[in-house]
Amino acid sequence: MELESILLPGVDAKRPLVIAGPCSAETEEQVMETARGLSARGIKIFRAGIWKPRTKPGGFEGIGAEGLPWLKRVQSELGMYTAVEVATAKHVRECLANDVDILWIGARTSANPFAVQEIADALEGIDIPVLIKNPVNPDLDLWIGAIERVYNAGIRRIGAIHRGFSTYDKKIYRNLPQWHIPIELHRRLPNLPIVCDPSHIGGKRELIAPLCQQAMDLNFDGLIVESHCHPDKAWSDAAQQVTPDVLDFILNTLVIRDMSQST
Ligand code: PEP
Ligand code: MN
Repeated sequence: MELESILLPGVDAKRPLVIAGPCSAETEEQVMETARGLSARGIKIFRAGIWKPRTKPGGFEGIGAEGLPWLKRVQSELGMYTAVEVATAKHVRECLANDVDILWIGARTSANPFAVQEIADALEGIDIPVLIKNPVNPDLDLWIGAIERVYNAGIRRIGAIHRGFSTYDKKIYRNLPQWHIPIELHRRLPNLPIVCDPSHIGGKRELIAPLCQQAMDLNFDGLIVESHCHPDKAWSDAAQQVTPDVLDFILNTLVIRDMSQST
């Protein structure tokens, strides 16, 4: 299978490509304060969950389409690109209607071929970058199958996101990295950019820095990190979010080696 290697031509060609923003868009003020903080520190791509797949009912399930105009403000006032998770064809249509720049498919959705196909069908004839998270279970073929469904819909700007794999034992990681799986994905699809999501692997903010470094040492192309202006007050995934300031510190202390030349 032939996959284009370039996700967003002209954007952040240097490694790592960084996508950052809150787990969830909560309020217009929280979105703008977080985006301003990230933009001031040179981040160009803003992530925010609008529809949230929650493990249990009764929690915050996302602000919904009401939050999409806030992301338009992030684009127009700060010149950032925006990235949103889509889980249904309706999400795709609402994102496209609101000029979202990048879509991503979440880990629970990647595990469901019917859902991925529904999204792929809604993407027919559209040129937009799409990132595909690994399925929650450590099934490389299922991950590649989701990538193929999106590719077969005509999408050529495709990337993968490694967010770790579900485990009952969460003593260290929220989701086990099982690095050999994205490494094998790279072996099978060498031109596919792979972005690491240390936030959902680690589940706690202390693990963000070492996981980012590990991803760079393994030659990942980018990082998608959850960042919130007031992490402890976040309505979802509070324990794993970092302020824009902390994210900036983490990124500035990363050691980026050119691993492509190593033997
Ligand atoms: C998220 O990115 O906030 C999210 C829900 O991630 P995942 O699909 O990896 O659980
Ligand atoms: Mn999250």
